[in-house]
Amino acid sequence: MGVLQELVNAVRAGSVEVVDLTAPLTSETPILKLPPPFADTIPFGLEEISRYDDRGPAWYWNNIHTGEHTGTHLDAPVHWVTARDGEDVSRIAPGKLIAPAAVIDVSERVAADPDFLLQVEDVRQWESAHAPLPAGGWLLVRTGWDARSSSQDDFLNADDSGPHTPGISVECAKWLAEEAPVIGVGVETVGTDAGQAFGFDPAFPCHSYVLGAGKYGLTQLRNLDALPPTGAVVIAAPLPIVGGSGSPARVLALVER
Ligand code: MN
Repeated sequence: MGVLQELVNAVRAGSVEVVDLTAPLTSETPILKLPPPFADTIPFGLEEISRYDDRGPAWYWNNIHTGEHTGTHLDAPVHWVTARDGEDVSRIAPGKLIAPAAVIDVSERVAADPDFLLQVEDVRQWESAHAPLPAGGWLLVRTGWDARSSSQDDFLNADDSGPHTPGISVECAKWLAEEAPVIGVGVETVGTDAGQAFGFDPAFPCHSYVLGAGKYGLTQLRNLDALPPTGAVVIAAPLPIVGGSGSPARVLALVER
């Protein structure tokens, strides 16, 4: 039997589980909010075209209104100035979008400190306990932040000093970009950088280094707690928006049970 038929059989039998890592898209889906004077993205929205009525008696359909970076989405390199001539989202080779995942769980530390930053040492310790980071794969950072995704306020967790959400240290972002074999980083928060990363040097280091290295970001993932530390395979499916800096994506994980 071919490997694809074996895969289909395993999915049907439940020995391979399909875990949906995608946030549902509604007008309530949390979105990034930048301080003035920067321009913001719009929330997701549906605009009804017809619903079995005079506008279309037998059919229901909508226009969608969305930013590229709304809900669960993929950041393409060209999103950042450090990769201004880099790949747009339509140019990402589809074979790269099916890739193994390393899942590092820092949720207990984030519960104690919402400004938690992942360090190189944390990843090195994870590698000692599990395996080297997968070549061409994702590093997915489990923070528990997906539990807040039903509320924009809880999700952004902002006060007078700005948002307080977990992320990746400057040194770790540079290391993931330049030394680690991964193709990108996936997070549960609204962006790959920490809430306070506007004040880092460089600002937004994960975007700056990881996208600058031609790698990718996945944001607003959920259900990472259903994944093993190693062995899951991620299927990330952004829309091929020509010239796009990113796209909402359906992100699925295959997990052997
Ligand atoms: Mn983004």
